[in-house]
Amino acid sequence: MAKSYDVVVIGAGPGGYVAAIRASQLGLSTVCIDAWSNAAGKPSLGGTCLNVGCIPSKALLESSENYERALHKFADHGIGITGVTLDVAKMLARKDKIVDTFTTGIALLFKKNKVDSMHGFGRFAGKNGDRYVIEVTGSGAPESIEARHVIVATGSLARDLPGVTIDNKVVCDNMGALSFGEVPKRLGVIGAGVIGVEMGSVWRRLGSEVTILEALPSFLAAADEQVAKEAFRQFTGPLGIKIYTGAKVESVETKANSVTVAYANREGNRHVAEFDRLVVAIGRVPNTRNLNADVVGLKLDSRGYVEVDGQCRTNLPNVFAIGDVVRGPMLAHKSSEEGVAVAETIAGQVSHINLDTIPWVIYTSPEIAWVGRTEKELKAQGIPYRAGQFPFIASGRARALGETAGFVKMLAHAETDRILGVHIIGPFASELISEAVVAMEFGASSEDIARIVHAHPSLSEAMHEAALGVDKRTLNI
Ligand code: FAD
Ligand code: AMP
Repeated sequence: MAKSYDVVVIGAGPGGYVAAIRASQLGLSTVCIDAWSNAAGKPSLGGTCLNVGCIPSKALLESSENYERALHKFADHGIGITGVTLDVAKMLARKDKIVDTFTTGIALLFKKNKVDSMHGFGRFAGKNGDRYVIEVTGSGAPESIEARHVIVATGSLARDLPGVTIDNKVVCDNMGALSFGEVPKRLGVIGAGVIGVEMGSVWRRLGSEVTILEALPSFLAAADEQVAKEAFRQFTGPLGIKIYTGAKVESVETKANSVTVAYANREGNRHVAEFDRLVVAIGRVPNTRNLNADVVGLKLDSRGYVEVDGQCRTNLPNVFAIGDVVRGPMLAHKSSEEGVAVAETIAGQVSHINLDTIPWVIYTSPEIAWVGRTEKELKAQGIPYRAGQFPFIASGRARALGETAGFVKMLAHAETDRILGVHIIGPFASELISEAVVAMEFGASSEDIARIVHAHPSLSEAMHEAALGVDKRTLNI
């Protein structure tokens, strides 16, 4: 007889594994099915985020930034270093060790929290009364399990560029881009989204000539325009990445050790560029491949996302979907929070997730982070607002760090003063944004932040000053 659970979670990315832990904590018998195998062919929990996304990319971003500092930035502090060397294999091994620590850590967390874990591919196989039957195909014979509740957390896959084959040697997606065995002399990147600029930054700092081709006429279209403009200035200036917006890729021809990309530039003129490696980073698509959604009638939208309501309920009773496979930003923390909310809903609690206060972060140098609405969105929605801004060049702590590029910008409602958005480009933006998230979740006004004591000297003073700036009373600029 098939083993039966209260909850089956399909996928052990940051959405699925967190949902499984929370469900078990709430006393629900839970199994989490995951198909991921690492390069050694071993099960590796944590999904895209831990295996080939957030964690390995941040490890390489840090390593490459240290290399850059040693080469170009320490001298300014009076620290002379000669003979700086680069051991790419060691850098990759460090990254792999970090990944391994976390992926094996999830297996331990499952044990600690009494979550059953199955390695294999899960798909809907029908219903048995009010229970869903899930078939799991692993290394042995297929197994069936049953559960009253299903959480679909199958994540996303890199979007294909039609006619271009990813071999993860010469033409790569994020997986290959995190594992080049040596620094490519000429690296092409198609797509100037988060993944494109992060991967481009890593390899540029390690020595590649990097060219990014972006189809849209604007750069970082989702970000605040002023932030995007400053980012473009920093990436194309001091960092030295070539970024061409409005570039329409026409063909990609792969050879054994190089690749030729033909594209039309924004004026419509044809260009041909030759690269040693190419990264295709044109976004990600929801992964419902082979899930057998139709067997149970699970509704997908026209773009392949599982359709859900505000509580991540699908069209089927007791079937939920979370993370990259549903609407909303494709971010790990959004997946995890949806996982917690769904587990609590299943356990009978009242839970919700506020998609309006999810922080976005791009881990370039300078870092970029924002929460809430941009000026462009506020204008389009006809919402009156006041803006306050403070540049890091006027921050003592940023000066001490030697990281003075960028600013904090706060947008608050012109009448109520409620904070509507905060946009940061600068050092540790990823950490600074939390204050804004907390403020917005608590419905704070810019005046609230202006009246809170911020440590001196700290980068957070820039947030304080931006809040003061909303009322035109900055003190240090
Ligand atoms: P995933 O992490 O994609 O996990 C889904 C899991 O389900 C996978 O293990 C998959 O193998 C498994 N699966 C799929 N179908 C089945 C099936 N039928 N049966 C069994 N298992 C199945 N986000 C951030 O917030 N911060 C970052 O810094 C960041 N950096 C990123 C860098 C890169 C290079 C990439 C590619 C992504 C990055 N992201 C980042 C995005 C983040 O990785 C995703 O938003 C997050 O992983 C989504 O989590 P998830 O649980 O929904 O799905
Ligand atoms: P993201 O969704 O953050 O991963 O970003 C993907 C980026 O790739 C976006 O800026 C898209 O506009 C861009 N993009 C999508 N398709 C193409 C394409 N064919 N050529 C170049 N850029 C593209």
